[in-house]
This record gives sequence, structure tokens and C-alpha cells, in this order.
Amino acid sequence: MEIKEFMGGRIRLFMGDITLMEVDAVVNAANSSLLGGGGVDGAIHRAAGPQLLESCRKIGGCATGDAVITPGFNLKAKYIIHTVGPIWRGGQHGEPNLLASCYRKSLELAACHQIKSIAFPNISTGAYGYPHQEAAEIAINTVNEFLINHSIPDYVWFVCFGNSNYNIYEEKLRAKF
Ligand code: ADP
Repeated sequence: MEIKEFMGGRIRLFMGDITLMEVDAVVNAANSSLLGGGGVDGAIHRAAGPQLLESCRKIGGCATGDAVITPGFNLKAKYIIHTVGPIWRGGQHGEPNLLASCYRKSLELAACHQIKSIAFPNISTGAYGYPHQEAAEIAINTVNEFLINHSIPDYVWFVCFGNSNYNIYEEKLRAKF
């Protein structure tokens, strides 16, 4: 699968399974218990192995819009950044700010750990029901703003699991850059 580059290569778009990414950190769309779940969370826990659950249990939980970091264990990635996206409840319950916060806090943690490359899934757009267009807009704008103001991370990957989100990201990134 081809990689599309934007913002002088600092933003990269890819369709595939995030657990296979060879980056410094992959972001997990976790739930607030951090104890695993379905979707990308389940896939990351399966691929990273049981030590991840142990590590998450010690952290004890994560608020919506916040992010925590663990080792990557059996993943190729050195770290996993777990962030908790908002559940879509119609858009009037702070969802946009909380979703933007997920991307910002994840990038702040990445910068603190000298992480050069980080891969995001499309947070909240699965079981949490966030409308895909709106979620992509927030993801792209928040990442772009962070990268303009920070030299680390060098590369941010948007990893889309299917055509629907991939096409939305491609269109929005092309329009912006
Ligand atoms: P949320 O609860 O935040 O909505 P989900 O895991 O249900 O989390 O979905 C978030 C996004 O992750 C969805 O767009 C889904 O298609 C995608 N996804 C699911 N599995 C994977 C995977 N292995 N790699 C990358 N993205 C994935």
C-alpha cells in the first residue's frame, strides 16, 4: 500500500493495520479503564501481549481526552500511547475539544519521550460513533498545529483501517496542503 505525504513529509497517510507499523510509538484508542476492549484496542493488546494489560492495570485508568504511555512490548513500536476518545453524544457535550485533546496530549507525551515517529488510528470513529468527517477535520487540524509549533515528533502517521476514513483523510489533506 502506498504512502501519501503531506506537510513536507511530516504528515503521512496510510491504510492498514496500526499494530504492524514500524514507528517509535503507536497510539491506542483505549477506554478509560485501560483494560482492553474491541476494535483497535483489542488488536493492540493481542499484538503487544499480556504484559501490556499488566502495565495498564498499574496505571489504573485514564480520563477522556487524556493520554498515558506504556512500552510497546511485542509490537515493533517502542511505545504505546493510550488515549481515551469521547463517545459521540450529538456534539454538544464537549466532544470536539475532547477529541482535539486526545491528539494534543498524545503528541505532548511523544515530544517528552523524544519520539520521532508516531502513528494514530482514527480515534473515536469506531465503537464511539464520532462522525468521520468531523473527526478527521479535528485530527488533521490539531496535528498540523502541533507540528507547526514543535520540531518533535518528526513524522505523524494517520493510519486508516478502511476506505471510508482513508478517502476522507486524503481529500482533507489534499485540500489543506
Ligand atoms: P473507538 O472506541 O475510539 O471508536 P475503535 O477501535 O472502535 O475505537 O475504532 C477506532 C478506529 O480504529 C476505527 O476507525 C476503526 O476502523 C479503527 N481500527 C480498528 N482496528 C484497527 C487496526 N488494527 N489498525 C488501525 N485501525 C483500526
